[in-house]
Amino acid sequence: MGFDNLVECKICGKLFMKTGRKNICPSCLNKEEELFMEVKNYLYDSPNASIKEVAEQTEIDEGLIMDWVREGRLERTGIIMTYPCEMCGKPIHTGKICKSCQNELGVVSDSLSGTKDEGKDETKRSMYISDKFKK
Ligand SMILES: [Zn+2]
Ligand SMILES: [Zn+2]
Repeated sequence: MGFDNLVECKICGKLFMKTGRKNICPSCLNKEEELFMEVKNYLYDSPNASIKEVAEQTEIDEGLIMDWVREGRLERTGIIMTYPCEMCGKPIHTGKICKSCQNELGVVSDSLSGTKDEGKDETKRSMYISDKFKK
């Protein structure tokens, strides 16, 4: 028996056994709903507020708000929040990294599996090969 599932509740700070995905204790689950409403209302009034600003103004944990953004929960209510891309810091509103970083990573994985855009890739590849041969 370990304490692997013992986590600190994001809302009240109490330690509890984590059962679901969230770091919120059972007694705070209803509270989360309230806090969510608070954030939602704040954002209706100030749609351009950053997560940091919302956290400061509403005194709600920034990580909690981030969770809602990442889950797309705020987006479903019509609020688009942006937060920095984990790779380049550009503002994004879904996932962990921005589109261009995704593309950059996509290039790497594509060249490994390499099935998409066969035609275009073929030209690139043959150009690359002929370049290589010239040297
Ligand atoms: Zn709690
Ligand atoms: Zn990025």
